[in-house]
Amino acid sequence: MVTVKQRKVKDDINSRENIVQLIRDYPDNEFKEVIQDIGFNCEMCTKCCTASFNDHILLLEDDVERIKDIDPTVLYPAPGFEFCDQYGKLYSCGYTIKTKNDSDKTCIFLQNGLCTIYSKRPLICRVYPYMLFPVIKKKGNVDWNMISGLNEHGYYHNHIDDETCNSIIHQTKEYEIRFQEHMIMFMRTILTHFQTNGLKHIPAMQAQKIREYNKGQPIDILVYHKGKFETFSEQK
Ligand code: SF4
Repeated sequence: MVTVKQRKVKDDINSRENIVQLIRDYPDNEFKEVIQDIGFNCEMCTKCCTASFNDHILLLEDDVERIKDIDPTVLYPAPGFEFCDQYGKLYSCGYTIKTKNDSDKTCIFLQNGLCTIYSKRPLICRVYPYMLFPVIKKKGNVDWNMISGLNEHGYYHNHIDDETCNSIIHQTKEYEIRFQEHMIMFMRTILTHFQTNGLKHIPAMQAQKIREYNKGQPIDILVYHKGKFETFSEQK
């Protein structure tokens, strides 16, 4: 029997597959026009490296492997915890980077206003503030989000040459597609894992366990990585 939650997961997978196709089909020349019109330039404010401004970043699998080589103790489960089974285990869709204990929750790798892993930084950090995310409206109309934090940081109306523009388009599309593919694989792995092990998603327990986790209580957490779930332990 297909449960409501299974149906929701399958709907989510279908919706993300649709999004991947929309991103692939989005005309580069239209994206280019927007990028050149906005003319964003970084002002080194470092807001983008804080959770207070940008929430968390989700690392792609090769980002995780690179960061594991630098310091595995900075890898934390991406918050949100989409699922919780009847035994109180929380499931996260992947890893994020630990933040400092300051008021802005600054990325642990930001020191003196600079990224200390700049050449090895995650793909999301390379493409920021660009994005290519479709918001599907009624009757199938699509609005596109293409820049994050517009007018909240940076300088605008700068000249962006064609070569830079093409590189932004290529990397942004790559990131957005890989992000959706990551989430599709997470959802498929959840379906198999729950079915194989006789597990059920319990929303009330999910809310309770997230509250406990946010208070610093020890919780069993499984993090999706490379097609399976890894047990998260702070003593890595
Ligand atoms: S990895 Fe570097 S660029 Fe990315 S959020 Fe951290 S400090 Fe900023």
